[in-house]
Amino acid sequence: MASIFTQIVEGNLPCHKICENDSFLAFLDINPIKPGHSLVIPKKEVDYLFDLEDDLYRGLMAFAKPVAEAIRAAVSCQRVGVIVAGYEVPHAHVHLIPTESMADFSFALARRASDPDLAKVAESIRQQLPRVQS
Ligand code: 5GP
Repeated sequence: MASIFTQIVEGNLPCHKICENDSFLAFLDINPIKPGHSLVIPKKEVDYLFDLEDDLYRGLMAFAKPVAEAIRAAVSCQRVGVIVAGYEVPHAHVHLIPTESMADFSFALARRASDPDLAKVAESIRQQLPRVQS
């Protein structure tokens, strides 16, 4: 059975997309710790991040960088924090989370967000991408 994220990649499940290329996809987490909490994934389904082949691993991190910059520009925060967990979805992914302090590094703060709220924040992040990429 394909992972939830592969189903998103294949367009069989919806997501609030930030950006994608042939190999990677960034989209909003449906249960954000803070508005703007995003997930960056390789399209290839590999469970454990550190099992990715080196080029894909480096590519994922390089792909995440402008996404993090766009999140920081779109959502007021001190730093975009990174968490790699993977206990819920067995498809490698990096969490990019707007944070103000260490206290924000907590999945206990995660709450389901409404589609309109997710759509709004995704659009504001997408609008920042050309600026951070130029
Ligand atoms: P982890 O596997 O790193 O523990 O967490 C997986 C993350 O994926 C969670 O933060 C969860 O909210 C998110 N998630 C689970 N299912 C979906 C989904 O169908 N769509 C989106 N956008 N996020 C999901």
